Amino acid sequence: MATNRTFSMIKPDAFADGHTGGILTMINEAGYKIKAIKVIKLTDEKAGQFYEVHKERSFFGDLKRVMSAGPIVALVLEKENAVADFRKLIGATNPANAEEGTIRKKYAKSLESNAVHGSDSDENAALESSFFFSQFEIV
Ligand code: ATP
Ligand code: MG
Repeated sequence: MATNRTFSMIKPDAFADGHTGGILTMINEAGYKIKAIKVIKLTDEKAGQFYEVHKERSFFGDLKRVMSAGPIVALVLEKENAVADFRKLIGATNPANAEEGTIRKKYAKSLESNAVHGSDSDENAALESSFFFSQFEIV
């Protein structure tokens, strides 16, 4: 099951700028089914827990501030090869390097405000999904 699912967030910048509909359309057109969805606002502490792997990085404070600046959309998505294909769909972390046709190319403003998150492994997809959703909220 986990191999067919990934976890995504529409980040505060993209949500605030009204790009939720456009991003969900790109996700659906890429063949993903939405298995769970909610609008939620992270605290600085919760954003730090989610990105704990980056806690020693110089940008950790900025990352927590950006990710708790406003509501996000949390998503569990399903498709064959979900994790790897989603990383291709969102494009490079820095939108300056993102390819045409990717979500970040179209909607990301900067390296810090890069519109969407995508899990980087099946293991993290499962962990991140359970960070936001109980088993009963994933259909
Ligand atoms: P995400 O985990 O949000 O999907 P990613 O996997 O493409 O992004 P990571 O290396 O996990 O990239 O970094 C997490 C986030 O931290 C990035 O999305 C970016 O906004 C921010 N970030 C990464 N590297 C830097 C950096 N050198 N300077 C500032 N911010 C950075
Ligand atoms: Mg990452």
